[in-house]
Amino acid sequence: MAEEKSRGEAKLKKSAPKDVTFKCQMCEKQKPISEMKAVKRFRPVIIVCQDCEKVMQ
Ligand SMILES: [Zn+2]
Repeated sequence: MAEEKSRGEAKLKKSAPKDVTFKCQMCEKQKPISEMKAVKRFRPVIIVCQDCEKVMQ
C-alpha cells in the first residue's frame, strides 16, 4: 500500500513539475494551485477551489 502511494506521488511530480494541482476537498476536482483557496474558518483549514469557496460563503 505504501509502495503504491509513493509511486503515485513520484509520477505526479515528474509529469507536472510546475503545473501544481490540488484536489478540492469539496468537489474533489483537480485544480491549479492558483485557483485554490484556504478556508480558515474551518479547523483544520480545508483547501477548496474558487467555485466551492463562493458556495460556502
Ligand atoms: Zn471545489
